[in-house]
Amino acid sequence: MELPVLDPAALTASQPTILPAPRRALPVASGVRPSDTLGRPLRDLRISVTDRCNFRCTYCMPAEVFGRDFAFLPRAQVLTFEEIDRLARAFVALGAEKLRITGGEPLVRRDLPALIALLARIRRPDGGSVDLTMTTNGSGLRALARPLRDAGLARLTVSLDSLDPDVFAAMNGVDFPVARVLKGIAAARDAGFAPIKVNTVLKRGVNEDSIVPLVDWAREEGLILRFIEFMDVGHSNGWRLDDVVPAGEIVDRINAVHPIEPLEPAYSGEVAERWGYLDGRGEVGVITSVTRPFCGDCTRARISANGVLYTCLFSVAGHDLRGLLRDGAPDDEVRASIAAIWGVRDDRYSEVRSDATADLRRVEMFAMGG
Ligand code: SF4
Repeated sequence: MELPVLDPAALTASQPTILPAPRRALPVASGVRPSDTLGRPLRDLRISVTDRCNFRCTYCMPAEVFGRDFAFLPRAQVLTFEEIDRLARAFVALGAEKLRITGGEPLVRRDLPALIALLARIRRPDGGSVDLTMTTNGSGLRALARPLRDAGLARLTVSLDSLDPDVFAAMNGVDFPVARVLKGIAAARDAGFAPIKVNTVLKRGVNEDSIVPLVDWAREEGLILRFIEFMDVGHSNGWRLDDVVPAGEIVDRINAVHPIEPLEPAYSGEVAERWGYLDGRGEVGVITSVTRPFCGDCTRARISANGVLYTCLFSVAGHDLRGLLRDGAPDDEVRASIAAIWGVRDDRYSEVRSDATADLRRVEMFAMGG
């Protein structure tokens, strides 16, 4: 099955290239899990429910580029809950086991618990339930943690880049107070989410001194902290290799205060490197896309809020699944189309990152679900 070929001009185009999704692809029986050209199965789906966000994190949506008048997706272009549900069911029928709800900031999407309730009803081909999780900046958790939990959300990851009010305010770009995120995490715990994961993006000269205070806090609170190397996602965050705090240094800083040892991955394709505290007080993780790429077992697909399928966080182009849905394609054709796209996937950007990839117009992270 020939997929539309990507025009080289797309690599540096001002707008992401959206290719039509293949029609009349080879049918795929439910439960048959497609693999890509590197033998990687389709296991995880990240679903962006909005490209909007109430933060302007410097490494994702810097305010000087994405100001107050930035044109986000018009409502009519955004997938409805029913369309998201249909696509999620197609991916689960193809073997996806984990659905991660993302954005932008997912909690700014109205009535989100209603979507969670829909997705929580999905069953895998073997009858098992899906691992329904969400990544949020925590700004709306105080009000929504309980309704999300009651709707069937299983797990939660909260982004928090520092406990220092000034550093946090500077990194979120809108002076949002750290205290409100901490209250949101407390509300999530009261609602029954456990263990809660906390993601911290580290940028040299900005928040590396927040490592140990965050570690102490997470050990105290029983949270699973994961430090993320600053990445050249999108094409607007001014990424430089010099601004990356490498995984080796992160581990050394933690180990100097709380001795740690490497742990086995919890499952194949796990994003974070896990490290256990020798005193038995939990674990900490490091996401090492720059210094220790992990593309070899990357099983992640992403759907943007306007229904475009991206097969890598650093994609410059994607395939329009929304068009399929709105053209009335039946479920088996949607499945076949997804399988055809995945089947020719060969992404391994982090392994080939170099000066030659610097000018690629990668799709913004907030526009594809991170
Ligand atoms: S760079 Fe792309 S292929 Fe590699 S791990 Fe990240 S998303 Fe997967």
